Amino acid sequence: MKIKSVEVVRIQRPDADPATTGSGTTLSASTGARPKTQGYRKAWPTQIEVANPMSKFPRFKQRRQLYSAKKWPSFAVKVTAEDGTWGLGTASGRPAAMVVEDAFAHILEGETCMAIEKLWDMMFRVSKSFGTVGIASVAMSAVDLALWDLAGKLQNKPVYELLGGPTCDRLFVYATGDDVDWYRELGFRAFKLPCQYGPVDGLWGLRENERRIAEVREMIGEGCDLMLDCYMAFDVEYTTRLAERLRCYDLRWMEECLIPEDVGGHLELKKRLPWMPLASGEHFYTPYPYQLMIENRCLDILQPDIQWVGGMTACVKICHMAAVAGLEVCLHGGGRDAYGQHLSWAMPNISWCEYYIGSDPGVPLEEVAQPGALVPRDSHLKFAPTGPGFDLGIEEEWLVPFQA
Ligand SMILES: [Mg+2]
Repeated sequence: MKIKSVEVVRIQRPDADPATTGSGTTLSASTGARPKTQGYRKAWPTQIEVANPMSKFPRFKQRRQLYSAKKWPSFAVKVTAEDGTWGLGTASGRPAAMVVEDAFAHILEGETCMAIEKLWDMMFRVSKSFGTVGIASVAMSAVDLALWDLAGKLQNKPVYELLGGPTCDRLFVYATGDDVDWYRELGFRAFKLPCQYGPVDGLWGLRENERRIAEVREMIGEGCDLMLDCYMAFDVEYTTRLAERLRCYDLRWMEECLIPEDVGGHLELKKRLPWMPLASGEHFYTPYPYQLMIENRCLDILQPDIQWVGGMTACVKICHMAAVAGLEVCLHGGGRDAYGQHLSWAMPNISWCEYYIGSDPGVPLEEVAQPGALVPRDSHLKFAPTGPGFDLGIEEEWLVPFQA
């Protein structure tokens, strides 16, 4: 069976809020579904400062929304086979949509639908001349996920079965965000906080970071895991100082302390903090940086994002590389979408999933869930068999021209 067409489309759900559809400001944009329930307070992303790589610029320091892309619409890639069967992979950002339309679609049309490794290799190689990492890697991911969805539909099997089948009945899920009281109400038993302050906040910021960690540790007790997400905001020296201050709070890991390009910094950090588990990877693109990190034992937990790193095909390679090195993979945001859930069911070295919560406290998770994704209960995702592909539950009539 050959590929008939590769198209960029927009998902126009019948229940979508026209004000939000397709206007996500981050790479993991919303699907536009409007929650029915009103929250009892605003969620943390617009309420607290979070340390980030732009924190050194006072004009943008207070909120990430001050510098986020003005226009970064959600889109989907629809790959259609000769018999009319189609698969869908979602992404966001006009530049990635253009890479699919202008650089990938014409080389993939006419190729064999099931030859996913070859198709991934073609996209990887054709992108060499304009750059594979970042935007092109997001574009590759969307096409790759559409191909896996299509492969499942053509064989009448869910994607986790194409990957070998489920490895467990349920997966442990942790909550990411700063509304810890709400996550506890929802039954979560592990929590990852965004770190609020960084190097430019000096000693005061170090104390404030410690104060918040101490407060949350007190709230959740000693039996629950606690992690700290540092979103590329630090350098080696600051990370070392903060980690030493936080040693007594028994963090499960510190995450993304450095920018991904700083390989030397990652090496140095592991030397300085052999006792602190270090996690990273959501802004690494393609399996190559993972190979470097694994070989040099810089990281303890690898966190690829299935919608950014190169799709399912790249994630499977990373999981296999990590498995032979005895390392765990924990997908970035992977507990929230069907793509990450299917992979996580099927890989023996994924035992935890991340569930990012940016919706207002009080809004049930079911009302803001991604298409085809299960919602956690009691800090677990309970495995449930699904239909073919990723079983996203998206109708063909909802797919309209992208019109960037
Ligand atoms: Mg993170």
